[in-house]
Amino acid sequence: MKDTAKHQGLRNQLVQIVEQKGITDKAVLDALKKVPRHLFFDSGLADYAYQDKAFPIAAGQTISQPYTVAFQTELLQVKKGDKVLEIGTGSGYQTAILCAMGASVYSIERQNELFKQTTLLLPKLGIRPKLLTFGDGYKGMPNYAPFDGIIVTAGAPIIPKPLMAQLKIGGRLVIPVGETIQIMTLVIRKSEKEFEKHELGEFRFVPLLEDKN
Ligand code: SAH
Repeated sequence: MKDTAKHQGLRNQLVQIVEQKGITDKAVLDALKKVPRHLFFDSGLADYAYQDKAFPIAAGQTISQPYTVAFQTELLQVKKGDKVLEIGTGSGYQTAILCAMGASVYSIERQNELFKQTTLLLPKLGIRPKLLTFGDGYKGMPNYAPFDGIIVTAGAPIIPKPLMAQLKIGGRLVIPVGETIQIMTLVIRKSEKEFEKHELGEFRFVPLLEDKN
């Protein structure tokens, strides 16, 4: 697995595209420049990695479009040392972006095949999330809560209550909500009982799978 000057060049171009689409957070753009997205693809498909597109990965899932990753990450307002929960590890690309920004990342994946694959891949790339688990993201990770940020990378029919409960006061939950089309939704916990909700446009994700554990 190699990262070359050619890949860095393609990455810089991709970051320009993402910037033109409206992403301004420098920490997010720097992370996108740093993380070798092609290493999250099967080797034969690496040429597709630097297009601003989603792409199929194992178990019928997708690696999110770079713009979408950037958009969600910008909404999270990640600071170094923040504790972030990710629902839907998938390829591990979003996990890697959060790690590159200095977050302490906890991530849950519901497909065992992807969980195993990504658990092997990340250390090979020198990426060290705090914890990768196989399980049901609807429940979050109550044992490790509360979190500064929670990011859901699959389309959720509803906002799961346990995720709201696992936010710190001031914490941010970024979640695409809807069945066929999703509305990117930002929930900010203002106090123990008060949550502020913002809706930020339409996206398309693979569905958040129902609890079958
Ligand atoms: N962040 C990933 C996106 C993967 S697509 C990436 O950058 O590659 C969404 C992922 O959510 C899929 O891997 C899917 O298996 C996972 N998923 C779906 N339902 C889930 C659930 N209930 N709990 C945890 N993960 C889930």
